[in-house]
Amino acid sequence: MIVMKFGGTSVESAAAIERVAGIVKAREERRPVVVVSAMGKTTNKLLAIAAAAIAGKRDEYIPQLHDLRDFHSREARQAASLAERVELDRFLDEHFQELTELVKGLAILGELTPRSVDAISAYGERLSSYIVTLALRHFGLTAAHVDSRDVIVTDSRHTQAALNFPETNRRLAAVIPPLAKDAVVVMGGFIGASEQGVTTTLGRGGSDYTASIVGAGIGAEEIQIWTDVYGMLTADPTILPGGHRVKVISFAEAAELAYFGAKVLHPATVVPAMDKDIPVLILNSRRPEVEGTRIVAASVPCENTVKSIACKRKITLVNIHSTRMLMAHGFLRRMFEVFDRFQTPVDMVATSEVSVSLTIDNCKNLEAIQAELRQFAEVNVEHDQVIVCLVGENIRYTPGVARRVFNALDGINIRMISQGASLLNLSFVVSEADLNRTVAALHEEFFSYLDPAVFERNGVAHA
Ligand code: ASP
Ligand code: MG
Repeated sequence: MIVMKFGGTSVESAAAIERVAGIVKAREERRPVVVVSAMGKTTNKLLAIAAAAIAGKRDEYIPQLHDLRDFHSREARQAASLAERVELDRFLDEHFQELTELVKGLAILGELTPRSVDAISAYGERLSSYIVTLALRHFGLTAAHVDSRDVIVTDSRHTQAALNFPETNRRLAAVIPPLAKDAVVVMGGFIGASEQGVTTTLGRGGSDYTASIVGAGIGAEEIQIWTDVYGMLTADPTILPGGHRVKVISFAEAAELAYFGAKVLHPATVVPAMDKDIPVLILNSRRPEVEGTRIVAASVPCENTVKSIACKRKITLVNIHSTRMLMAHGFLRRMFEVFDRFQTPVDMVATSEVSVSLTIDNCKNLEAIQAELRQFAEVNVEHDQVIVCLVGENIRYTPGVARRVFNALDGINIRMISQGASLLNLSFVVSEADLNRTVAALHEEFFSYLDPAVFERNGVAHA
């Protein structure tokens, strides 16, 4: 068995779903279990409808609901066979009726609880998974639809639910393999249910996570994440075009990259797969013949020091200086308590005896945080900063990486530098204005030579 996950853009239209069907059909003998996201931007649209409802904007949410129904109906009718038309219409009627009632209920209450958010946003995957099932049948495959809420069991932390792995694994193992013997199983990503059967979701972008959970639960030989990019690249293409494709990367490196903004993978995704040593492939549904990126549990021998350059933009640098606290203990605790009180995660930290620099990506409470910090330290804040992060397991074994970075970035002001305990990355902060120059210089320094076993030169340009 393999798990094949298709994201929102891969199922955004009848044409896209047909491509999916072709890709699945070509892998039929590997017994695929298909996990799909909501079609296109459906999740966002559902959340917008909920927001309009609690604001009492009937003239907005009613047409929005109609548009969403028309969109699903139009694409589904094209993707499914005429013979299934009656069943399809009944399904859509039922679901949109329910959804409309729910939305009207919210409008009356004027209040949106996390539980209602889940009830509403789950419709995206409930609809898409059923539509894809019909489309696969139309394409000549035997397909079986599984409601993810019957097998993915979570706690009740709505919108951000945590898995009950023992129960989920038990249900997955009982339900999926028997079905997958003679059908392609299709299920929605992102959604689950609490033990009481109440609909929950795993957090935005959670379908990759579902794929990983399902893969681990059924002991799949491989998990394929089909998306609209060519896997992982040596540099973010929106910052530096012309990067090279990374053919194989370790779980640890991929998680690091995902955290630092590589948009191809939800960071938590890799965990269940990693625990079971199941490889995860990132593939492009528009170019299924391109090999993509393979993420494996073991570390990957590589002649290059660095595998990829990741960036996290819109970062704020906070410099905290305390001469008064020189030699005093408790300074760091006091300082972090302030961030903690305002529920503001700190990403990177560098300290000296009397000063601390740190980065945050959420400035919502920054004014209040500064006011509290000023009670015992001097504070200055710089916005529009970027964390640039070199990722690669060889960084820990190769002397002189920092020297190469500083040489390559001659003339660029590096505001802060840190090497985490994982030793997989070397991160530093530059200002947004220097970003393009920084990435270009580093890319030239670290990727002029490419280990052919790990990289494909211009692996995107040619595809
Ligand atoms: N549809 C959900 C979202 O947009 C989950 C996913 O696409 O992975 O967040
Ligand atoms: Mg999505």
